[in-house]
Amino acid sequence: MKGAYTGKMLLVDLDTGRVAAEGAEEGLLRRYIGGRGLGARLLYDRLPAGTEPLSPENVLVLTTGALTGTASLFSSRTNITTKSPLTGMICMGNCGGFFGPELKFAGFDGAIITGRARELSYLWIHDGQAELRACEPLRGRSCPETESELQRATDRKSRVLCIGPAGELQARIACLYGDHRFVGRGGTGAVLGSKNLKGIVVRGTLSNSLGVVEPEGFREIIAQEMKLFRENAFFQEWRQYGTPYIVSPMNKLGLLGTRNYQSGECSFHEQINGEALLKKFVVKKITCHRCPVACISLAEVKDGEYAGAHCRGPEYETIYAFGSDCGVSSLPAVIRADQLCTEYGMDTISAGNICAFAMELYERGILSDRDTDGLALRFGNHRAMIELLTRIGRREGLGRLLGEGVLRAAQAIGRGAEAFALQVKGLELAGYDPRGAKSQALAYATSPRGGCHHTGYAEAELFDPTFDRFTTRGKAALTVANQNKSCMYDSTGVCAFPTQLGVIDQDTMARLLLAATGFSELGTKEGLEEVGERVFNLERLFNWREGMKPSQDSMPGRFLREPLAVGGSAQQVVELEVLLAEYYQKRGWTSEGRPTEGLLRRLEL
Ligand code: SF4
Repeated sequence: MKGAYTGKMLLVDLDTGRVAAEGAEEGLLRRYIGGRGLGARLLYDRLPAGTEPLSPENVLVLTTGALTGTASLFSSRTNITTKSPLTGMICMGNCGGFFGPELKFAGFDGAIITGRARELSYLWIHDGQAELRACEPLRGRSCPETESELQRATDRKSRVLCIGPAGELQARIACLYGDHRFVGRGGTGAVLGSKNLKGIVVRGTLSNSLGVVEPEGFREIIAQEMKLFRENAFFQEWRQYGTPYIVSPMNKLGLLGTRNYQSGECSFHEQINGEALLKKFVVKKITCHRCPVACISLAEVKDGEYAGAHCRGPEYETIYAFGSDCGVSSLPAVIRADQLCTEYGMDTISAGNICAFAMELYERGILSDRDTDGLALRFGNHRAMIELLTRIGRREGLGRLLGEGVLRAAQAIGRGAEAFALQVKGLELAGYDPRGAKSQALAYATSPRGGCHHTGYAEAELFDPTFDRFTTRGKAALTVANQNKSCMYDSTGVCAFPTQLGVIDQDTMARLLLAATGFSELGTKEGLEEVGERVFNLERLFNWREGMKPSQDSMPGRFLREPLAVGGSAQQVVELEVLLAEYYQKRGWTSEGRPTEGLLRRLEL
């Protein structure tokens, strides 16, 4: 195997406890690079069609990108792919930090995990070896406690991905935690819980064995990346504020989801924006492997009702979900909510959406005090939000149902609740109102994992003031390009932010990959565009195979029929039919949204 890959995948059978190494297939790496692309391919090939996501037969695929762990800037990403218990479709997520590089330094490009352990266990991977170890005493322990206990039991320098109580109890909004990061929206934490797998711990000291094919050329490109980074004015803001930097700009555009998306404008945005956070609560900045930005904040509440609350972030999406969307103007309450999600191991976007959904149902009389066990779930009631979140994490009372996600909860509640469940394909919506950004709307509607902002992020609409956000013209082509780019970059092992902000464009990435791997297929912009298109279509094929219906390229009725009343996107709705028809055509799909035989042949699928 050439260059930056270790050339080995770890196979783990939890039923028997057997672990083995398998050679990574060079042909797959040339066609899918690694990370998200390789994860999708391995899941498609190894998961029997129709598998129940919370059964032992579900497959969990951990992958790193070709550049993960190398000297390239921003090369920190680890990808996790499985079948989602929330959507029944593909579930892929990636996180920064140091886990992925450590996995490579331990001698593996990734791991494929199947089966269910007999007792609560963790997987310990270290320098070319791996073993399954029992850890029943960790049952019920929070994510940060689990992380430090697993480090104590193995190696203080090890890196951990683990679940908390919500994952053990198989809440469908549970995710993974490690290194102050969450990963795996869509219920990845529940999949680990169903497998009796409390965590994955990795320690590697073989970093010297990881090389690149053309070291000199590789170093030169990195020097150019660094120059571009230093010249990029926006990065200086980014470094200071991180993602909360965009709270007020999104509000100005009328895109900041507010009160369960009843509005895109939040009257108290200045109380929850990046400046407010930095001024009073940020205590430290942290970074990821080989990243000069350090955009991640650690925040702490020093006084008042939530004194002692602390969290990583909160990121923009978390501030939207627990702040504006729940009508909560208290940053300390948002920090406490983020902390609870960290402890229980829950996705903050889904959890915040669920609270906002429950608040709207309560205010409309669809949920009564009896349903909520006396919780007055009004917008802005941060104490009720915090209590509800605790019940979701523990799966108690109404929290048990809400932990299933807004779609299942709405179907169980009935009485018209579905109209207020803001999700796509079952995954709760991220923090950009689709009515005021038509490419972002299309990206939500067609994302393989549901209401996700990342898989087709429409940065031109969100950050270029000269760009026409409201027109539908040209948005199909823009969305296709953004989605393909996201698939490609997520396969390389590099963080998305510098790619969205122009420090790494596709030409630079092609040169980096060629120097790192020597694979000529990855050495041109056109080659990378084809990889992106291949990965997106493969994820689509997976969803079709698992029973996706054409009607699931959809959007909640609120966005289609209720124009925003005020703000920077007033009077806008999503013209989904027009957008979708052009999008299917641009993709080369049938009018039902199926990839055609000719397209699949061209993409070697
Ligand atoms: S930009 Fe932020 S998230 Fe991305 S690698 Fe750097 S610190 Fe990590």
